[in-house]
Amino acid sequence: MIKWLKSYLLMEKEVGSNSYRREVTGNFVILFSFAILFLLTLSNFFLSSRTIFYANLALFSGLCLITFLFRHNKRLVIHSIAHFMAGGIFVIVYFNQAQDYTPIWSFLYMYLIISLYGHQKGLMIAGGFLGCLLLFLSFWVGETVTKLEFIRFAFVSVFILFFAYLAELLISRTFEQLNKTKSILEKMTITDELTGLHNRRHFNDVLSDKINSARRSKEMLALAIIDVDHFKKYNDTYGHPAGDQVLITLAELLKTTMKRSDDVLFRLGGEEFALLYKPKDETSAIALLERIREAVEDVVKEENIQSIVTISAGLYIIKPQKTQSFEQVYKSADELLYQAKELGRNRVVVSP
Ligand code: GH3
Ligand code: MG
Ligand code: MG
Repeated sequence: MIKWLKSYLLMEKEVGSNSYRREVTGNFVILFSFAILFLLTLSNFFLSSRTIFYANLALFSGLCLITFLFRHNKRLVIHSIAHFMAGGIFVIVYFNQAQDYTPIWSFLYMYLIISLYGHQKGLMIAGGFLGCLLLFLSFWVGETVTKLEFIRFAFVSVFILFFAYLAELLISRTFEQLNKTKSILEKMTITDELTGLHNRRHFNDVLSDKINSARRSKEMLALAIIDVDHFKKYNDTYGHPAGDQVLITLAELLKTTMKRSDDVLFRLGGEEFALLYKPKDETSAIALLERIREAVEDVVKEENIQSIVTISAGLYIIKPQKTQSFEQVYKSADELLYQAKELGRNRVVVSP
């Protein structure tokens, strides 16, 4: 039973967002409404007058009807039940002539409605409901309800309404803040700090997925590994900050050259970058890299670049008909880069 309740109220799900909370509240509204009306109908059959029993039975039947009519739209079921139960409170209060603590149900209703609709809309609905209920109760003041009882109820319910509003506001803000922080952290864990490109961790995560999805969609996928030539010498000559500037400029150049939604850029570490893209054919895959290589040579015109910088690249083209693992693809591209270095640098070597 407890296990069922936990899973029904989505307690095993990751507590993620405000919409998750509304889902939990919604499930609670359905469960609670059925349970309470069933118990009330049953107990009133034995304990109360026929009138109250029939009133409860009518409400229970209404609940079943709503659930049946809107069964294809859970949200509609939940919201209709919530409003139906508000009407039910008036019915119950009426038949009991506001006695036996019957208006107390409104406390729970206000809490649920604010949790379901959020603090602003919820406050308006619950506030409207409370206003009507107080007006309704005022008819019994001096008869079945004393003035003091009425005032006490009014005070407590207004405070409950206010606190429910406050609690909802705080909880929803906390959730928003948590989600914001979560997405910033998630972004940070996959981003290279210096260049703003994706980092090696993300490269390891996405390469296999990209290989598989390209194979499924029968598209060609290109992996290029780029390395700055003689970068140690550049650092030694012009200093580390100047070296950093080269890396930033190179990253900017890659970003402006590769803007398609399928293009993914990484800084694998140090002065090594990786590009993943879906070329039309081999010729265009090579042409793109050659364009980048030539552009890097020109980059010296940029303000803080001290001398000509060149890059070498290994370009491995993955054909969709071939099944290859992440490791094979990466190793092949790396070997091609090594060949480019061996052949004298400032060049692109492509898989045969
Ligand atoms: P090669 O042409 O064979 O690639 O020679 P290289 O000098 O570029 O390669 P090597 O691996 O010998 O040196 C890489 C240098 O990159 C060493 C290190 O000082 C520099 N480096 C690595 N990360 C950074 C960084 O974040 N900023 C700067 N400025 N330099 C870095
Ligand atoms: Mg290098
Ligand atoms: Mg290197």
